Amino acid sequence: MKKLQMKTPLVEMDGDEMTRILWRDIKELLLLPHVDLKTVYFDLGLAERERTRDRVTVDAANANREYGVAVKCATITPNAQRVEEYQLTEMWKSPNGTIRAILDGTVFRAPIMVDGISPVVKNWKEPITIARHAYGDVYRASEYRVTGAGKAELVFTGEDGTVTSQTIFQFKNGGVLQGQYNLDSSITSFARSCFQYAVDTRQDLWFSTKDTISKQYDHTFKDIFAELFETEYAGQFKQLGIEYFYTLIDDAVARVIRSRGGFIWACKNYDGDVMSDMVSTAFGSLAMMTSVLVSPDGNYEYEAAHGTVTRHYYRHLKGEETSTNPMATIFAWTGALAKRGELDGLPDLTAFAGRVEQAALDTIRSGVMTQDLAGLWEGESPAKQVTSREFLTAISQKL
Ligand code: NAP
Ligand code: MG
Repeated sequence: MKKLQMKTPLVEMDGDEMTRILWRDIKELLLLPHVDLKTVYFDLGLAERERTRDRVTVDAANANREYGVAVKCATITPNAQRVEEYQLTEMWKSPNGTIRAILDGTVFRAPIMVDGISPVVKNWKEPITIARHAYGDVYRASEYRVTGAGKAELVFTGEDGTVTSQTIFQFKNGGVLQGQYNLDSSITSFARSCFQYAVDTRQDLWFSTKDTISKQYDHTFKDIFAELFETEYAGQFKQLGIEYFYTLIDDAVARVIRSRGGFIWACKNYDGDVMSDMVSTAFGSLAMMTSVLVSPDGNYEYEAAHGTVTRHYYRHLKGEETSTNPMATIFAWTGALAKRGELDGLPDLTAFAGRVEQAALDTIRSGVMTQDLAGLWEGESPAKQVTSREFLTAISQKL
């Protein structure tokens, strides 16, 4: 049989530990037998980041901007222990942070649902996608510990020298202070990524903040979303029969729990951090989540939502076969291949990606799965727990 051809290469970002092993096996068992795979390869494994003084991460992100679609393996974000373990000359920054800063985007995370593994919230029938703004607010805040009496002020000095100030609080005793910011440009690109993703995936978009309390800060988010929607997206939404819906965050939480799913929930940075863990846990497992970074100028980076699964890797090094779930990494590859097919006018490539996903889901439906899922399985016959390699082989046979 002739292999599927590609036009534009994918930007391939290899990674670390157990996910690096899964990466190699997914390519060998599921992709290379069927696709004449074209990639521009970057090794983001920690050893190579050290060797290139992290230049490789920046090069990979720039290649993502050049070619449009990337697929990324999970990578170690070094801490003190890793500096020792890998003999690092510096505590290199989180590759995801570096890539996000270069691409400037929004992270969309959605659960991979399969019959036999049901969400904790029983009325959730369709996935809920969280769209998290990945810039500013409390993550870039300045903080101050007040230790005695004094006046706290919010002061803005314009470039022309104009000074405006307001009193925040007259402290009589110790307390805490925080100053945070965001940018119209970043909020606008967040809004644009969300509207575009809703159009691409034909789902309703919800957005929530606390604008009744935060009358300048959160209200600006609400206004920027509303204006962009009216001027650029209202027509397309109407045509597709989808809806944009703004509500207060506390109201949104209640509605999300009562919903049947099937929409995108856009969240400010902190809300997205908290709500994505809540939603993913309620749907089952981090290994059953897709994650894609969408930049406002239309670049895509697909990845797994989980880390490098270090504990399994140490067992692997001792020669044990592990039962690590490769679903999120498989879906990172299929997401990227499907998008490449769509952008290059290669429907066969997009269809192939869909068949790989179906084969993976069918394998689980047939009762064959990794250890993390076996514990959640509610199918009629008991789950057959297999190793990662056996699981991938079962998928390749279905394929
Ligand atoms: P992790 O790799 O996500 O693993 C935490 C635990 O979750 C595992 O020990 C395992 O539990 C379970 N788990 C996660 N993914 C699984 C899978 N695919 N199949 C089965 N079980 C899975 O998080 P971590 O241990 O906190 O971090 C490890 C490394 O990953 C760190 O160096 C961190 O910097 C990095 N990290 C990278 C990314 C990224 O690149 N996007 C994200 C997060 C963390 P059991 O051991 O109980 O089986
Ligand atoms: Mg978090």
